[in-house]
Amino acid sequence: MCGITGYLGTLPAVSTAINNLKRLEYRGYDSAGVAFISPQGLRVCRAEGRIVNLESAIKNEQAQSSVAIAHTRWATHGVPCEANSHPHRDCAGNVAVVHNGIIENYAQLRQELTARGHSFSSDTDTETLAHLIEEQLANATQPDLVTAVRDALKLVHGSYAVAVLWAGMPDCMVVARHDSPLIIGVGDSEMLIASDITAVMKYTRDVIVLEDGDCALVTREGATICNLNGDRVNRNHLSVDWDDTAAEKGGHAHFMLKEIYEGPRTVRETLRGRLTPEGLVNLNDLGLSAERIAAINRVCLIGCGTAYHAGVVARRFFEQLIRQPVEVHVASEYRYSDPILDENTLVVLISQSGETADTMAALRLARSYNAITLGVVNVIGSSLAREADARLITQAGPEIGVASTKAYLAQLTALTLLGLYLAEQRAPETASLQSEVRRALSSLPEWLEQCVALAPQMDALSAVVAESSGVFFLGRGYDYATALEAALKLKEISYLHAEAYPAGEMKHGPLALVEPGVTVVGLCTQRTTFDKMLSNLKEVSARSGAVVALIPNGQQVPENAEVTIELPKCPDALMPMLTIVPLQLLAYYVALRRGCPIDQPRNLAKSVTVE
Ligand code: GLU
Repeated sequence: MCGITGYLGTLPAVSTAINNLKRLEYRGYDSAGVAFISPQGLRVCRAEGRIVNLESAIKNEQAQSSVAIAHTRWATHGVPCEANSHPHRDCAGNVAVVHNGIIENYAQLRQELTARGHSFSSDTDTETLAHLIEEQLANATQPDLVTAVRDALKLVHGSYAVAVLWAGMPDCMVVARHDSPLIIGVGDSEMLIASDITAVMKYTRDVIVLEDGDCALVTREGATICNLNGDRVNRNHLSVDWDDTAAEKGGHAHFMLKEIYEGPRTVRETLRGRLTPEGLVNLNDLGLSAERIAAINRVCLIGCGTAYHAGVVARRFFEQLIRQPVEVHVASEYRYSDPILDENTLVVLISQSGETADTMAALRLARSYNAITLGVVNVIGSSLAREADARLITQAGPEIGVASTKAYLAQLTALTLLGLYLAEQRAPETASLQSEVRRALSSLPEWLEQCVALAPQMDALSAVVAESSGVFFLGRGYDYATALEAALKLKEISYLHAEAYPAGEMKHGPLALVEPGVTVVGLCTQRTTFDKMLSNLKEVSARSGAVVALIPNGQQVPENAEVTIELPKCPDALMPMLTIVPLQLLAYYVALRRGCPIDQPRNLAKSVTVE
């Protein structure tokens, strides 16, 4: 995920595009760059790190131009450094491309382009696009940028929002999108492009939102939009009436809510390119040989907070699928333990930022035992991504809200892929469960959309929960793991006391706390324990606790539940991904009612780099 801006008009294009880019810095800040057409031809300036570094770098350039495209990067392929910064150019330096997304078949394309004589100057997937466009222009009798971009994109699989400049047509930009956002701002004899509306609002409220498959020629007079076959398409203009702060959050009141809404897309992106045409999992880039995988005798999952809870879900999943002992540990405990580890233990470290101090300490401890270390991490250039033997990058994009939501879904997705991958290689006895889960994966984003659509119901329910004296989340098996995360969400942003319990444990102590005013949320999504859960919830009602039940669609509605939330039905092992979404929304709306500072809860920080 990254930010793209562009400007074409009477203002100084380079500084306008860079200023607008600052509104998108939350989308990525590994590096920044700009391309523009000057009297000397196409020019590019880039700098590692934040946009201010680009501003210092460009100061000494004669950056006068009426057209510019700019980019702030969130690296997915290739570490953050100047050479990997966008814009990327073709061999001749006449084409410049900025890109948001992932070109899945880049390795193949790069090999073919290299064989045809192209030379690459970065490790990114994006650079292949610049060379493909160069070839299309070179092969055309009447070279034209829009046709070249369309034809190049036909060769590409993956997700993209792109903006392209070509020295041969100095008064235009060409843009296109598939699965990554891009909008066009229509001004008074000026045109703007951006990854989101915030970046153009200072100049215009008249916006065209491109749809998947659109490719547009943008000139000072306006935008001409076609599909990749060159057929004209019409897109409505949107009149934006958001204020500035709402716009930054995509029209939502808080980053947390925006990020919950981004959950389905995050899962889609993390799955992208990970299933082979035969439907098996492709994690070959982990670099774990079949012999190494066959030798694994134990798996340890390690994380803190929400990442630890992703590990609790994965522990059960891995055990079910790979039939090997799997442990899960809180990193701050593990680092001072005396672990039993050897070179055949796979240690999976889970961290959104990849900088969590306790998780890093656990990684270093595991390395000192020569265990195989694997980071499940959202930030590609982070310490965890660099220091682990292997890395599986989640594709959540930057997460701003302190309470993790979409990054948790991305972690669960990545761990599901990892569990399946290990099982495919070494546990033929679980083949039927493997294929049940694999088949369901492609429907996950759609089911998640249905879960996000429960927002109004969760808002209504929050009115009761916000008045509770305390909340229990009860579940069994996978549902207990989700209960842990649901209780953490509610605690951290609404400051309500919340506890998670394995439902069968209530009668061994905590049931004493149930009285009028206490809300008990029963997670009843698992087929094998559904009836047991109903009995446990009855025990709560008998003590006058208010019962809320979450059940899969089509299941019998518990008669004693005051509110029942119905979720899409999917294999039990994937239910944790669906169940957590309404509970994230519940935490959000309770915190909202209680007037809490949702994106920055008291006493907490996003990246915990201290012990
Ligand atoms: N995949 C591209 C890269 O790693 C684009 C990433 C982005 O969206 O910022 O450079």
